[in-house]
Amino acid sequence: AKARSSQIKKTKTVCIYCGVGCSFEVWTKGRKILKVEPKPESPANGILTCVKGKFGWDFVNSPERLTKPLIREGDHFREASWEEAINYIARRLKEIREKYGPDSIGFIASDKMTNEEAYLLQKLARAVIGTNNVDNSARYCQAPATIGLWRTVGIGGDSGTFKDIENADLIVIVGHNTTESHPVAGSKIKRAKKIRGAKLVVIDVRKHEIADWADLFIKPKPGTDAAVLAAVAKYIIDQGWEDKEFISKRVKGFEEFKESIKGFTLDYVESVTGVPRDQIIKLAEMIHSAKSVAILWGMGVTQHLGGGDTSTIISDLLLITGNYGKPGSGAFPMRGHNNVQGVSDFGCLPNYFPGYQKFDDVTFEKFEEAWRVKLNRKPGLQIPQMIEGVLEGKIHALYIVGEDTVMVDCGTPLTKKALEEVDFLVVQDMFLTETAKLADVVLPAAASLEKEGTFVNTERRIQRIYKAFDPLGESKPDWEIIQMIANALGANWNYSSPAEIMEEIRRLCPIFAGVTYDRLEGFKSLVWPVNEDGTDTPLLYVNAFATPDGKAMLYPLEWKPPQLQDDVHKITVNTGRVLEHFHVGNMTRRVEGLRRKVPETFIEISKELAQKYSIKTGDLILVKSKFGGEIKGRALVSERVQGDEIFIPLYASDPSKGVNNLTGNVIDKVTGTPAYKDTPVVIEKISEG
Ligand code: SF4
Repeated sequence: AKARSSQIKKTKTVCIYCGVGCSFEVWTKGRKILKVEPKPESPANGILTCVKGKFGWDFVNSPERLTKPLIREGDHFREASWEEAINYIARRLKEIREKYGPDSIGFIASDKMTNEEAYLLQKLARAVIGTNNVDNSARYCQAPATIGLWRTVGIGGDSGTFKDIENADLIVIVGHNTTESHPVAGSKIKRAKKIRGAKLVVIDVRKHEIADWADLFIKPKPGTDAAVLAAVAKYIIDQGWEDKEFISKRVKGFEEFKESIKGFTLDYVESVTGVPRDQIIKLAEMIHSAKSVAILWGMGVTQHLGGGDTSTIISDLLLITGNYGKPGSGAFPMRGHNNVQGVSDFGCLPNYFPGYQKFDDVTFEKFEEAWRVKLNRKPGLQIPQMIEGVLEGKIHALYIVGEDTVMVDCGTPLTKKALEEVDFLVVQDMFLTETAKLADVVLPAAASLEKEGTFVNTERRIQRIYKAFDPLGESKPDWEIIQMIANALGANWNYSSPAEIMEEIRRLCPIFAGVTYDRLEGFKSLVWPVNEDGTDTPLLYVNAFATPDGKAMLYPLEWKPPQLQDDVHKITVNTGRVLEHFHVGNMTRRVEGLRRKVPETFIEISKELAQKYSIKTGDLILVKSKFGGEIKGRALVSERVQGDEIFIPLYASDPSKGVNNLTGNVIDKVTGTPAYKDTPVVIEKISEG
């Protein structure tokens, strides 16, 4: 027994699913994953974890893993050596750049890459290819939250840590299925309620499980949360309850903001949102009487036409009530993927350098000197613009790392068409995803347990991952692959480890100045901004906001009721996660235990719709979108959805059931984020279950 246990290796890692960023030790024997053990010293989760983090690792050893580079030949792939694949990619990218210019090439990053890999991918795009066409899947979800915070307080990240959520007097959750999307955060909120008696308000179109715990549940019509929050802000100001001292010392733009919300009277808001006035008044009173308020929000806010504006009014509301910069308060956009925060922080954005450094002369000169190249100063394209660019004949090559664009972008048929039409498509991934199937070259990527690096969780907390075993077959860590491509294109990169990449990053990015691998050893972590001496910043805005003069800026609200429904398509589809699966399920579908728990995509419909269409749970139904697509699935009649609303999980048990067959290319005007949750449909029953 002693000899056997001596072969067991314990490796510290960070969960690759949601943005809570749970860390734990993985026990392995060879490639076999024996167990996952959260430790009390795990900074984000302590001894908590959820079913995905604990049992969701079998995909790493899935027989479907890619182990060799693949090159397309007609309608099939053939295996190739790394040398052949890399040289082929370099030759084609050079040809395309020569013929159409550097801006004809686009790069799409996954929010599961490490920070170091994200940095290298944007460096490949900017310094080697010469384009700023580099974006990441935050575009699909988190960009509206970021813009709301940039407009008002200056930093696009949670303003505090889980400690602040747990210590808040009042927790408000807007458009977020906390229990299933960020399970450990959900447990912390329930604990705060049970142990400390924190108050909880949930605003959502779907009555998720966390709403069962709420002191107040508010159900607005889809896409109208901004109006509810504006009415709450107006009511607070009308009563003279705003924090006058905080506003006069630390906030600008109060009068303009007040003017912008003057139309949000209780009468008007009741009529457009369907929320009774007493609920609006109750929420205003709860905020007024709370010593500290933390507001969490998720895709229920951001994946709408006005997602950026709703995120802004959340921050405005916190500002007028003085709920920034003190423990237990602040703004908490719940970042979805484990590294959606980090991939943006480390530069995979078309208009920012790593560390959110602006596109100005000083920054360009700094990076030109460090990278010894002349940089293209034209801002790049966002992902939807790249896809559109292909269809318009402006983008000729796409390089996609770890992202199943076909399944996750809005409007699957059009996205698929674009990826079929693009002259040259490279995909780096662990699996032959629906996107990889369309590629000219597929490069096999290593899993997180097979490499080193760092991730940033939703708290802005940077944590290290360690290698448990070697990459499967010939697969390689993304950073090594990107370096090989860069060098084949004429660069001379010699990074020998992710730690070395981080050294370059910290020299160039003030917010990461003190981030060293030593300071992140084991379960240690740093919450950015991190000063040169290693002091980090768990709570932002204690003395000043991240604006040029240190004052926050109230941002006037512009809002119109959404009008996507028509006389035929009166039903709205909402999408979201289920506990057992992560997003479309590319990893969790390959975990036997999780797949057994939720094998099929389901279509959750309200009791009202069930009655109207004589549908029972288990019946096969057809959903047809205003935007053209359709999907079939089994009905689940539930009280969690109400009225003309249905819910379809993002989890697609097979590609034809992917909810993005229904979504259209309607986007948030400010950020380009698709309005996934503004999809009008009709439904019909096909057969009894
Ligand atoms: Fe933690 Fe999220 Fe992973 Fe669950 S999915 S273990 S909550 S990081």
